Amino acid sequence: VWNNCLQVIKDNIGEQSYKTWFEPIVPLSLAGNVLTIQVPSQFFYEWLEEHYVGLLKKVVFQELGSEGRLEYSIIVDQGNDHSKPQTVNIPTKKVPAAVANSYSPERSFLKNPFESKAIDRHFFNSQLNQSYTFENYIEGDCNRLARSAGYAVANKPGTTSFNPLMVYGGVGLGKTHLVQAIGNHIKSNNPDKFVLYVSSEKFVNQFIESLKTNNVQDFANFYLLVDILIIDDVQFLSGKEKTQEMFFHIFNHLHQSGKQIVMTSDCPPRDLKGLEERLLSRFKWGLTADLQSPDFETRMAIIYKKMQSDGIHIPDNVIEYLAYSVDTNVRELEGVLISLIAQSSLNRKEIDLELAKAALKHIIEDVETEVNLDFIQKTVAEYFQVSLDSLKAKTRKKEIVTARQVAMYFAKEYTSHSLKSIGYHFGGRDHSTVIHSVQTVSDLIDTDKKFKASIQELQKKFKVKAV
Ligand code: ADP
Ligand code: MG
Repeated sequence: VWNNCLQVIKDNIGEQSYKTWFEPIVPLSLAGNVLTIQVPSQFFYEWLEEHYVGLLKKVVFQELGSEGRLEYSIIVDQGNDHSKPQTVNIPTKKVPAAVANSYSPERSFLKNPFESKAIDRHFFNSQLNQSYTFENYIEGDCNRLARSAGYAVANKPGTTSFNPLMVYGGVGLGKTHLVQAIGNHIKSNNPDKFVLYVSSEKFVNQFIESLKTNNVQDFANFYLLVDILIIDDVQFLSGKEKTQEMFFHIFNHLHQSGKQIVMTSDCPPRDLKGLEERLLSRFKWGLTADLQSPDFETRMAIIYKKMQSDGIHIPDNVIEYLAYSVDTNVRELEGVLISLIAQSSLNRKEIDLELAKAALKHIIEDVETEVNLDFIQKTVAEYFQVSLDSLKAKTRKKEIVTARQVAMYFAKEYTSHSLKSIGYHFGGRDHSTVIHSVQTVSDLIDTDKKFKASIQELQKKFKVKAV
């Protein structure tokens, strides 16, 4: 039954979504008209409910009739694997039992946090940078999960199952921006809440300072008053055991009181060396979401947004050129833009491709100015949705032959490889095959409008690089 359901689901949603949200599901049992499926986590369950409930209802109806019901069994990721069935429409929320057990209010510095001098809410400084908002945070495949989880947290701090929310990713990918956006959003909706943004480095320094001046109690009391704690770059806590211990207790206290905790790290929690196991296991209670390098479309969108907010104009071909060339992270992309604008005003020159190339040279050592064979093969294979290997294989399947011929055509057009060399790179074909391919593609361009359009679309991807 479940397989039939999957078939329908597969036809109705994108491949990526299917892989992410449906492949991990394990069908457990079918009792009468109740189908029970197992999902990996609470979050997973909530995501399915939020995004696919309509589709699920439909397939269950198709398979089991109007009396059909779907039940979820959620794997509780607390080490032991007791899972508990749950009905579709009644999401339950549990605080893991471990919190209650390990938190001990007897700890002297945690006693009566509210004893400390009352802090006037108007003077509470969130340490947030207001320019980081959701509005100017561009959404893309690279950050979709983290962004939407962040948005959910921003709207319902402390009450979603994303507590803590842990965002991780490499440098310059937007961790700080995202978590500050969460803070700003919460603050603007709830001016009375204590929202605090702090870098882990600052946290460590404050703690050390409090040890020196005998003010550990005040330090702890201050953090225990916070309603939303945003702590950036927790990898910085590694190896700092005393600070970790303090953080552990603050974390437990806040979490237990339903306060929201948001963290970032430059690597996934499992790779956080030098962090105590008990702390790491806390991080897993909520949701961990990663940020990837932005893809081409996202890079374009980020440049457009930046231009718009800075009120500058950059020609389209330059934007494309930048988006193609700077594919590491957003910070670098912004750096290139700023330098480009600076050079343009300094030299009183319009921003054009030439200037862009010059600007890039200063920043990135090896700008790719020539399209290479690898890039062509990869791009064409992707475009025709065939595997890279098949371009070099013997197969004569029609789609593959077409993709292969097109890739050869572009190789001839945009690289300095000889026909012989091109043949060599396509699985050892001889140069007459390459000539034939190039000819076939040229003919098709002349006779087949749709084909011509595909070629033009591909051409765009190569042109910017080839200039
Ligand atoms: P990280 O903390 O991961 O090192 P930052 O949050 O400091 O990265 O981001 C680096 C720069 O890139 C910031 O100026 C930020 O505003 C910008 N940025 C990152 N991601 C995005 C995005 N998705 N949309 C718009 N700007 C972004
Ligand atoms: Mg950062």
